[in-house]
Amino acid sequence: MPEAATSPTAERALLEVRDLRVTFHTRRGAVEAVNGLSFEVASGEVLGIVGESGSGKSMAMYSMMGLIADPNAEVTGSARFESTELIGLRPKELNRFRGSQIAMIFQDPMTALTPVYTVGWQIVEMIRAHEQVGRRAAWDRAVELLQEVGIPDAARRARSYPHEFSGGMRQRAMIAMSLACNPRLLIADEPTTALDVTTQRQILDLIRRLQGSYGSSVIMITHDMGVISDIADRVIVMYAGRAVEVGEKQATVGAARHPYTWGLLGAIPRPHTRKTVLPTIPGLTPNPHAMPSGCVFRTRCAWAMDECTQTPPLLATGSDLGHLDACWLPGEERDELRKATLR
Ligand code: SF4
Repeated sequence: MPEAATSPTAERALLEVRDLRVTFHTRRGAVEAVNGLSFEVASGEVLGIVGESGSGKSMAMYSMMGLIADPNAEVTGSARFESTELIGLRPKELNRFRGSQIAMIFQDPMTALTPVYTVGWQIVEMIRAHEQVGRRAAWDRAVELLQEVGIPDAARRARSYPHEFSGGMRQRAMIAMSLACNPRLLIADEPTTALDVTTQRQILDLIRRLQGSYGSSVIMITHDMGVISDIADRVIVMYAGRAVEVGEKQATVGAARHPYTWGLLGAIPRPHTRKTVLPTIPGLTPNPHAMPSGCVFRTRCAWAMDECTQTPPLLATGSDLGHLDACWLPGEERDELRKATLR
């Protein structure tokens, strides 16, 4: 049964994804990296997608953008950007959207930027690939963008190569490049993972500020619930290719209902508590070739019971009808269990 993650944003959605599936056909059998994911992103909204490595969050984004090069990958379902269906578009048709309408900020700017061209040159190429504009005007715009993302002495630094920038500056340059054509949707794939906490804070503030001034929608992909608490309006928690909890940030962070989300929240460092050992989620994400039947989290869940061998549907189990989770635990016990877990 496809999992539904409908929300009040559906009617004004910029992006509407339905039953998205990414399957890799391997010698050892089919592996479902994304399994029936459905969600929407409204205009001007920041949607956070959170989960461990291998949860399928990046794969879902790459599949929409036609960035999965593996010939054994099969992508099905629907991803409508405004009135255009992205799934099944040819690369040439997708190029009309990439960069100009939907831009991505990648995790590692050192590999996303080309080492043999200056940062300014790369932004100019991005602008000229999508707009009829002369090289001089595009260069001036590139310098303006670098200034806007906080690169000091931008006119001079535009002539620097990526290796001459620090990690934080490279990520700022990537953000400048992604904003070059004023995209409607910005997909940020773990943009702060490789950065120290101070730079991480600055980059998140920058994305939030630019999202406000450019009016873009943002999908923020991260494994860090702390980042989600900072920046997201709405949240999808993913585990082993599926959405296990969906809702407004206040609900998913402040009143989480799924044991996996409790595990992620429990792993946020809290300097003012007396705990000396940071809690972790026991075990590992399941082998994609040997997914457990029923609830995919049951091999790591402290509350697993007989019913959990059946797949729980994603639905509202409390009074907030926009707050969905996929778990068989009785709805009325969740608050008590959450409080006891996150004490
Ligand atoms: Fe745990 Fe069962 Fe809920 Fe899955 S359905 S999260 S195994 S209690």
